[in-house]
Amino acid sequence: MTDKSDFDSPMLRTALAQLDQTAERLQLDQGVHERLRHPRRALVVSIPIQMDNGTTGVFTGYRVHHNSVLGPTKGGLRYAPDVDLAEVSALAMLMSWKCALMNLPYGGAKGGVRVDPRKLSRQELENLTRRYTAEIILFIGPDLDIPAPDMGTDEQTMAWMMDTYSMTQGRTVPGVVTGKPLIIGGSAGRREATGRGIVYALYQAARHLGQDLKGRKIAVQGFGNVGGVAARLLWREGCVIVGVSDVKGGIWNSHGIDIRQLEAHVAATGGVAGFPGTEPISNDELLTQPCEVLIPAAVGSVIRADNADRIKATIVAEGANAPTTPEADVILRDRGITVIPDILCNAGGVVVSYFEWVQGLQYYFWRESEITSRLQEVMTRAFNRVWALATKEGTDLRTAALMEGVRRVAEGYKVRGLYP
Ligand code: GLU
Repeated sequence: MTDKSDFDSPMLRTALAQLDQTAERLQLDQGVHERLRHPRRALVVSIPIQMDNGTTGVFTGYRVHHNSVLGPTKGGLRYAPDVDLAEVSALAMLMSWKCALMNLPYGGAKGGVRVDPRKLSRQELENLTRRYTAEIILFIGPDLDIPAPDMGTDEQTMAWMMDTYSMTQGRTVPGVVTGKPLIIGGSAGRREATGRGIVYALYQAARHLGQDLKGRKIAVQGFGNVGGVAARLLWREGCVIVGVSDVKGGIWNSHGIDIRQLEAHVAATGGVAGFPGTEPISNDELLTQPCEVLIPAAVGSVIRADNADRIKATIVAEGANAPTTPEADVILRDRGITVIPDILCNAGGVVVSYFEWVQGLQYYFWRESEITSRLQEVMTRAFNRVWALATKEGTDLRTAALMEGVRRVAEGYKVRGLYP
């Protein structure tokens, strides 16, 4: 990846700084380190679509394959108004470490379209998704690159992608995407997988720290597929959810929020704001309120040098990708705060994506209880491997997780060699 300013974003700076630090710790071969700093391929496409009012809108889309040394590339597709090539490249790099850390036979990828999906109608979203898929069609495939949902996309998006790809192939190809609706080859438990994985990671963190998760005060930034599910599962386990937020703002009640009632409120009003018995709070304020566990599960770069010293939680569980900048990481570490890093904490999503892909390739589907127990096993083992490495090396969990993920990819490069 270049360091030019036209190819720059806070997230890319974070990803490159993390890689450089890890390379130094691992005493990585210079050639391998250099290869890992650059994506293997990056595609930028224009997506012209017919809008409901008859005009033509043109959007910009990206798909980046960071590397495919351990297998086909894997990673989500995000629809967001500020997404750009640098951000997608950073997120693709994180997927490489995440898949390697979780022992999945995948390289890392990511896609994005620069659009605010809330401003498009359902028809416009379908047009956008189908044309984006057509534009990147040579880049994706069940043994090449497999997209999945991410911010701003969902099961319906994946169904449109799968249909568009399948139509060009003249046959149904379920393995081209994961996170599909159940009826067309999705997996039981995929929708909840990221949130559920966070809960398993938190259980392990609490166990190692000699704490009980029950009764803990937890604040969650983001109430979508990741934060919303994590909040509901933790609330059901007896945790006290003191604050939650979504794009429009947050709510707080230090005695706890009834998540089932909040879900009904969100279904009726479209957001968490105005939930009876709570105080309004901004997304920034939520991060620094008194609580014991903080789960940033929305956008990236929210924990920064200017607020890290005011975070009250003793555990930060990263549901989002890259929510903490490297400067903030140092502050949190010096303050003794346990950070469960994104590539471990939110890996439940891609783990169950892998289960979905395997089930689809075999045309044989597992029960939800089987998915859940396998997910728990994978998350618990990965957490314990990372914890043990952090203890051995005297580092924080992020450093250990990156060491493990980067080392595996580097090992793959080493043994495969440099072509030609
Ligand atoms: N978008 C999710 C992530 O960032 C899931 C990716 C996938 O399932 O491929 O990990």
